[in-house]
Formats: sequence, structure tokens, C-alpha cells
Amino acid sequence: MNKKRTKVSVKPFGRGVLFIVSGPSGVGKTTLCQKLSSSVSHLKHSVSYTTRPPRKSEINNVHYTFIDKKKFKTMIDKREFAEWAVVHGNFYGTSAKKLAEICKTGYDIIMDIDTQGAIQMKRKYEDAVYIFILPPSMKILEKRLRARMSELTRGIKTRIDRAKEEIANYKNYGYIVVNRDLKKALGEIKAIVTAQRLITAKVDPKWLKILKIKSQT
Ligand code: 5GP
Repeated sequence: MNKKRTKVSVKPFGRGVLFIVSGPSGVGKTTLCQKLSSSVSHLKHSVSYTTRPPRKSEINNVHYTFIDKKKFKTMIDKREFAEWAVVHGNFYGTSAKKLAEICKTGYDIIMDIDTQGAIQMKRKYEDAVYIFILPPSMKILEKRLRARMSELTRGIKTRIDRAKEEIANYKNYGYIVVNRDLKKALGEIKAIVTAQRLITAKVDPKWLKILKIKSQT
């Protein structure tokens, strides 16, 4: 009996896939990303750095890593961000080191970032998967923003104006998901994740060895 076994990873997909999710404020990205990372195996939500103050329910290093502007600017100078942007007057960024660390653990990553950040990512990570979340209508988006007690009227107007600018960028994304119904939108994103993981180039070739088949080059 051949004792030499092929060491196979716990998942058939081999390389860390980056899923980049954008969409206007209030569209439900955060909820969708949280539900995805808690219900899909081997998928981690990347925790961004921000200079915005935490909301009541937010926990440091879980929802964001909250830092001051001075620290953020030092990180920019040291080129520590894979991407960063100013959104509604606050700085937001993704640590390149953290992304690499998650990838090394064999996990795929889901990032909830704005369109400016997604454009920067596209230049560096060509084979990442870009998903844009749309509201069913601008009226519904406004209603959802108003339901968030933390937003002031002026803040809502800024967010609606910015939403229009962001939506205009939808063509930079590979997939569009309309968040009319959370369960349906979640199902659609899960389908995208599954399809991406099954792409031949992303499947761990060691899995094919189990079938004792030599791949043809
Ligand atoms: P909020 O303050 O409402 O959590 O997020 C405001 C906006 O910042 C959202 O559009 C969100 O996608 C975006 N955002 C969150 N983290 C990052 C990040 O690391 N980089 C970029 N570019 N945008 C981010």
C-alpha cells in the first residue's frame, strides 16, 4: 500500500479570493457582508481602519479599527494601505498586511469598501471579484437612511448625493445585486462566491490528485 498521501487542504478551492462589495450608504452592505462571513465557510470580513467615531453598537477591531487622523496619515506615509479613501469627511482604509495575513490562513476575504477604494483595488488585484449592491429605488434608500436614527437630515442629503455618484460607477463591477429583499440578495451573493470558488484556476490541484488523475498541460 502506498503510504505517501497527498496532503489536501480542508477546502477544494486553493487561492484566497478577494470579494469587493460596494454600494451606497444605507443599501445594506454591512449587514450583507456580516451575514455572509458568518454563514459561508472560509470567508472572513476584512476589518477596515477608520478615523470616524464609533457608533453606539460598534466594537473596536470588530466593526472597524478606530484610529485618529495622525495615526491614519502615518499609515498612508508608510504605504500600509492596500487602498484608502475619504468618505463623508472621514478616512477609511484597508491594511495590505492584514489582507495578506488572512489569505495565508486559506480564507477568502470579503471587503466592504467605497467606489474610490474599489478603483484602487482594481489596479492592484485584477482577479478580485467586484460586486455592486443597488437599492430597489432612491426613495427606498432615503427611507432606509432616515430609519437609521444616527443620521442627521443634512447627513442624509449628503449621503443621497454621494449615492448617486457611487451608483454611476456600477460598470466598474463584475456583478450587480439589488437589495430589495435581504434573503434574496444574500442568496445571490452566496451564488457568486460559490461560482468563483469553483473556477478551475482557483481549485486546489491537490484535490484532483485524490482521483488519481494526471492533469494534462
Ligand atoms: P460607514 O461609516 O457608514 O460604516 O461607511 C461609510 C462608507 O465607507 C461605506 O461606503 C463603506 O463601504 C466605506 N468603507 C468602509 N471601510 C472602507 C475602507 O476600508 N476603504 C474604503 N475605501 N471605504 C470604506
